[in-house]
Amino acid sequence: MARELQVELRGVRKKFGAAEVIRGVDLGVEPGEFVVFVGPSGCGKSTLLRLIAGLEEITSGDLLIEGRSVKDLSPAKRGISMVFQSYALYPHLTVEENMGFGLKQAKVEKSEIKRQVTEAAEMLRLSELLQRKPRQLSGGQRQRVAIGRAIVRDPKVFLFDEPLSNLDAALRAQMRIEIARLHRDMDATMIYVTHDQTEAMTLADRIVVLNEGRIEQVGTPLELYGKPKTRFVASFIGSPQ
Ligand code: ADP
Ligand code: MG
Repeated sequence: MARELQVELRGVRKKFGAAEVIRGVDLGVEPGEFVVFVGPSGCGKSTLLRLIAGLEEITSGDLLIEGRSVKDLSPAKRGISMVFQSYALYPHLTVEENMGFGLKQAKVEKSEIKRQVTEAAEMLRLSELLQRKPRQLSGGQRQRVAIGRAIVRDPKVFLFDEPLSNLDAALRAQMRIEIARLHRDMDATMIYVTHDQTEAMTLADRIVVLNEGRIEQVGTPLELYGKPKTRFVASFIGSPQ
């Protein structure tokens, strides 16, 4: 029997008013897979993540999580955590409180929150910084807190929307390694949007190239690099021709 897909999009479309921004996307993501979305600004990358997270509803088609249609599955039950480009930390809360916020909302017991936050902080090298406020942190540390907040919910799927784009090149390189390590350690599925070709090439099991709300090509980094189907794909990921 074929292994059940972690996330499956079947003919997914999304309209905002009259504008159709996702125009029939079919994609299956395997458990544990690292899938990277690339494509020009406005092509629908963030919208696709938001649909998968349940922050937006699909207009037509179907979206399945572990074989179950989201029509029968509330966003909270999807086992999905999203990490935003802007970090979206609460400025008045400490690192510890920021990381535990979702668990507190979910009425998880205090000692259990403490345990989970401590564990995630160790993994992300934030243990010394738990009592700081976001403004007392560097960009890279803030981004690690945002990732930590996603980790403590122990999701099966992480969605990352250009998580490193506010960091300088050196820090991006370092965080890229940490995200790869996180993927290995958490044994989770990752769907990751980036503008950065190096991130796409080094992190992805498969890259999805999007163009105007449709998939232009899907393949391993090597396939896309070596055999881009179109000039458009080549311009994002392909070898110079
Ligand atoms: P990307 O992340 O690839 O840059 P987005 O998914 O953010 O692209 O946006 C895709 C298109 O959908 C854009 O034209 C954007 O203006 C439009 N869009 C996104 N969100 C909304 C919304 N809530 N209402 C109306 N239009 C939206
Ligand atoms: Mg976006």
